[in-house]
Amino acid sequence: LRANFSIIQKETGFVNGLIAVLHDITEQEKIDMERREFVANVSHELRTPLTTMRSYLEALAEGAWKDEEIAPNFLEITQNETERMIRLVNDLLQLSKMDSKDYQLNTEWVDFVKFYDRIIDRFELTKEQNVHFERKLLEQATFVEIDADKLTQVLDNIISNALKYSPDGGKVTFMMIKEDERIIVSVKDEGEGIPKDNLEKIFERFYRVDKARTRKLGGTGLGLAIAKEMVEAHGGEIWAESTEGQGTTVSFSLPYVQTEGDDWE
Ligand code: ADP
Repeated sequence: LRANFSIIQKETGFVNGLIAVLHDITEQEKIDMERREFVANVSHELRTPLTTMRSYLEALAEGAWKDEEIAPNFLEITQNETERMIRLVNDLLQLSKMDSKDYQLNTEWVDFVKFYDRIIDRFELTKEQNVHFERKLLEQATFVEIDADKLTQVLDNIISNALKYSPDGGKVTFMMIKEDERIIVSVKDEGEGIPKDNLEKIFERFYRVDKARTRKLGGTGLGLAIAKEMVEAHGGEIWAESTEGQGTTVSFSLPYVQTEGDDWE
C-alpha cells in the first residue's frame, strides 16, 4: 500500500484539513519490482565469483604461476568459484523451468518410508562431518503420489543445510508422521538456529541469514526457494521452526489419502 498526503491550507496559513490518498500497488507493479530485484540479485551473485576469479587469474598471469606453492592454491580457488557459478546457474535454470506455465510433475506412487530411508542412507554413507543420524520414520509402508526426482531434490536441499549448519558431534533427526490427509516430513538439527523474524524469509530467493558465512559454505541462496516451489507444486506446504542456539527443524507436508494397502491392522 502506498499513501500520498496533501495538506489543505487556507491563505491565512491555517491548516484545516488533510487528504490521504491510498493506492494499492497493483499486482503487475509488484511482479515488476520482484523481477528487477531478482535480476539485480542474480547479477550480484555472479559478479562476486567472477571478480574473485579475475584477481586470482591476474595474479597467476603476472607470475604467480611460477610459484609451486601458490599456483595450485590459486587454481583451486578459481575452480571452486567456477563450481559455485555452475551450481547457481543450474539452480536458476531449475527455477525458471518451474516458473514456466507448462511445468509438469512426473508423478508415480511411491512408498515414502522407503524413499526417505534411501535418501538418508545416501547421506549417511557420504557425509564428511561428524554428525549422528537418528531416524523416526513410520513403521508401515505409506504410499503418496509424487515426482520422485523433485522430492529427492527437496530432501537433498533440506538435509544438506542441516549438515552444513550442524555443530561437530551434533545429531540430525529425520522424522515422518501421518495425519488424516497429509504426511509431514521433518529434518531437525542442533545447529545455531534461525532468528524468529527470518523463519519465513529463508524460503525467499537469495535470502540468507548471514550472507558472508553462508557464501563461504558454498550455498547459492536458492535451495529452499526451489524446495518451496516443488513442495507447493505437489499441493503441500513447507515451513521452519527454530530455537536460536539450539537448532532448526525444517518440515514439509504432502497430501495423503489413506488407502487399503497401507494399514494392515
Ligand atoms: P543456501 O544455499 O544459502 O544454504 P538456502 O535457500 O538453502 O540457501 O537457505 C537459505 C538460508 O536459510 C541459508 O543461507 C541459512 O541462512 C538459512 N538456513 C537454512 N537451513 C538452515 C539450518 N538448518 N540452520 C540454520 N540456518 C539455515
